[in-house]
Amino acid sequence: MAVKMEHPGDIDDTLQAEEARDELIKVTLAFWDYVKNSSDVTDKAEHYKLKMIPILDAKRESRRLVGDVMVNQNDVEAGRLFEDRIAYAGWDLDIHHPKGIYSGEEGSLDYKDDVPLNSVPYRSTYSRNIENLFMAGRCMSYSHVALGTVRVQATLATVGQAAGTAAALCAEREMNPREFGKKHIGLLQQELVKNDQTIQGIKNEDPNDLARKAKVTASSYEKVGEEVISLERPIGLTMPRWVMVSVKGLKKIDTVRLYLESDSGTDQSAAVQLTGLEEIAQHEAGTPIKKVVLNVPAGLKGWVQLPVNATLPKTAKFVKIALPQMSQVNWPIMSNRGGRGGRGYKDTVSTGEFHAVKIEPRADLKNYKPENVINGWTRLAQNPASMWRSDPTQSLPQWIELDFGKPTPVNAVQLTFVTDPNGHRAKLPFEESCLKDYEISAWVNGKWVSLVKETYNFQRFRVHPFKTLKAQKIRLSVSATHGSPSASLFEIRAYHNLKCQ
Ligand SMILES: Cc1cc2nc3c(=O)[nH]c(=O)nc-3n(C[C@H](O)[C@H](O)[C@H](O)COP(=O)(O)OP(=O)(O)OC[C@H]3O[C@@H](n4cnc5c(N)ncnc54)[C@H](O)[C@@H]3O)c2cc1C
Repeated sequence: MAVKMEHPGDIDDTLQAEEARDELIKVTLAFWDYVKNSSDVTDKAEHYKLKMIPILDAKRESRRLVGDVMVNQNDVEAGRLFEDRIAYAGWDLDIHHPKGIYSGEEGSLDYKDDVPLNSVPYRSTYSRNIENLFMAGRCMSYSHVALGTVRVQATLATVGQAAGTAAALCAEREMNPREFGKKHIGLLQQELVKNDQTIQGIKNEDPNDLARKAKVTASSYEKVGEEVISLERPIGLTMPRWVMVSVKGLKKIDTVRLYLESDSGTDQSAAVQLTGLEEIAQHEAGTPIKKVVLNVPAGLKGWVQLPVNATLPKTAKFVKIALPQMSQVNWPIMSNRGGRGGRGYKDTVSTGEFHAVKIEPRADLKNYKPENVINGWTRLAQNPASMWRSDPTQSLPQWIELDFGKPTPVNAVQLTFVTDPNGHRAKLPFEESCLKDYEISAWVNGKWVSLVKETYNFQRFRVHPFKTLKAQKIRLSVSATHGSPSASLFEIRAYHNLKCQ
């Protein structure tokens, strides 16, 4: 049983601070005596030493205020996405027994650890009856149980950032928190995202960010995950045939590509049926998605692109792409697709075998193309294609560039680097993907002008203001990372007159 060194809570930590500290010392020494002298691990504990007695007096929960919404256990367990979300929480429902170490058989924790990520609503951060009061922290408008997920330091720091930003925007507009929230929640969300807050499903849509309309190129990018397909053997469309491909994680399909070989001397066209399936075994049922026309020119040997542009049914885990019989046309088997799915004809299904097909976007592929740095996302959890990474086989320096198309006034560049210490590549103290030495330059009147030279950066988020100049291009050149062979970047923004809106 987990034991928490907590006193029974019958002493007031604020008004009887010294007694509370004494209680904590008593609790620890009493437990130590038990471990050493009468527990069932006394043999093992014979050479244990007492290294530290925690004496810091701290209260886990104090008073909470009521806002326009009070988040409860149901909201949290359902991972509810509030419209006015300004931060997210994800810690467990971590409720401590009021009697602390004296909780006995009941245990010192009532702990639910499978809580999904849940959103923090703006309305829980201001008072419902005091007109100009924000409360960000463990005093916010959450029920006792729901507070378990939000009252941790890193989460409350982001809620504090949100409430502080909202307070500044309210003051600028001479509005109270409720009025402001009703009219300007989108503005607040954008201001937060601009300052590297993560809000589920909210991406950069800042109209003032000049980078969003720029053309992005780079010296190289890592091509991991690009679907390179090799063909194994031809199969004739002597009868209707189909392929079933996993679409888990995809909401829509933009295009389908089919590799076909025609030995026919005439052009042919046919209807291709796309169907959403819950299970491979139910390939005869499913929800029809769309019928698209396939044109196969005489003598074709190559990829045919079918524009689909269709939303997938919510229940679809696979998409079935069915071709009718076609004269002298082969639909080869490809050798390296991987993933779940299969192919079929009549009432035969071969799982793990696929006719040559590409679905775009493909959910399980990562791409590290330069243009990812302006797609609005700065977390892989929100969008797996949210970063640029240079080709690791090419040595540094590597660069990435924004081209505005014409000389454009600019006075600040904002960069979001890759520093997630939870990533599998993490090498503390500094994440190896984080850019260490870099330079920002501007293309002005036909030559490069150096604006910023940075050495030994280790932070994720950097804002570099400079004197306004008219630049056609902005370039970030990377000469060192904290260990990664690739230069990586989540986002680059460019501004003229960077300021809080
Ligand atoms: C024993 C214990 C262990 C914990 N362990 C963890 C853990 O491992 N990880 C984790 O993430 N969280 C942990 N927590 C929870 C976390 O520390 C708190 O929930 C969190 O720090 C609360 O943040 P807050 O900003 O709401 O309040 P606080 O951090 O308490 O900040 C409030 C601040 O306001 C100041 N203040 C109060 N009154 C006034 C005033 N009148 N004028 C000016 N300033 C004032 C206070 O001095 C204080 O600095 C733990 C909590 C406890 C009690």
